[in-house]
Amino acid sequence: MYDLIIVGAGTAGLTAAIYGQRAGKHVLLLEEGIYGGQIINSPEIENYPGISKVSGYQFAMNLYEQAASFGAKLETGKVIGLQLLDGKKQVKTQEAVYECGAVILATGAKKRRLGLDREDALIGRGISYCAACDGAFYKGKTVAVVGGGNTALEDADYLSNACDRVYLLHRREAFRGDDSLLQRVKKRENVTILTSTVVEGLLGGEQLEQLQIKNTVTGERKTLELNGLFVAIGQQPENEAFRDLLALDKEGYVIASEDCKTNVPWIFAAGDCRTKPLRQLTTAAADGAVAALAACEYLNA
Ligand code: NAP
Repeated sequence: MYDLIIVGAGTAGLTAAIYGQRAGKHVLLLEEGIYGGQIINSPEIENYPGISKVSGYQFAMNLYEQAASFGAKLETGKVIGLQLLDGKKQVKTQEAVYECGAVILATGAKKRRLGLDREDALIGRGISYCAACDGAFYKGKTVAVVGGGNTALEDADYLSNACDRVYLLHRREAFRGDDSLLQRVKKRENVTILTSTVVEGLLGGEQLEQLQIKNTVTGERKTLELNGLFVAIGQQPENEAFRDLLALDKEGYVIASEDCKTNVPWIFAAGDCRTKPLRQLTTAAADGAVAALAACEYLNA
């Protein structure tokens, strides 16, 4: 029996664990994959207040050690449901059922797919969703990054260090990502930016060899010879397991506002998994604190 179970050990979940433990609660953190969440794939963070530069991996490891040092228990397990059974609040994983007083969902989001034919088959054969993880395989080669947000801009910048040529393909004219990042990418001589450009096809045999692209303004189609494609088109939440209990929006995010409260009084939502206008490291950390203190208030009532 735990006071608080946190689902997901990314920035929001680990921060919630720190706040929960420091408030004297017995906290269990369940994570299905790697501790640290998405930020471990960010080569460099330079917009977290008080830290001028740190790698995403180092940031996540610091956070993990900090949460563990306060006594939070961390276990590996995929949560497949939450339920209220005979007045007991339960968290179900594939292997076990845990009881608790309150739950914080900090399940984050996963990388969105382009939805093209053969996309899944070419993962690891030219298609990647993580420049920091796979960029080294493309040293001296030609790659493309698709997307117009901060991830795509960061990826293009990062890959330009090792790759001969980087194409940055974005479906609109204006980029969604920060202008400072865009300006940095524009200065890279080996980066070619193609806006109003969509990827229509993935061509090749066992490996990706070409992209079929289309300019949405002129209608012109052409093929781009390359060795790798890095897909950086945002994220989608993974909250389907909670849909029967929780209110989700049409994209699948848990409906919760800045107080991190959901439609179920004992369940809170923090970080990228909830409805929010800005998904950043800072807002994930802030949510972790807010959700933990709201859960403590609920437990103390
Ligand atoms: P994002 O900001 O949601 O951007 C996704 C981009 O992909 C958008 O430009 C979008 O185009 C494009 N896109 C979406 N679906 C597409 C499709 N099917 N085909 C082609 N393009 C598609 O995602 P993100 O860049 O992963 O960033 C997620 C969050 O993390 C953001 O809040 C971001 O600021 C934050 N982040 C911050 C940092 C940092 O601060 N250092 C680093 C990485 C990420 P449209 O613009 O046309 O919608």
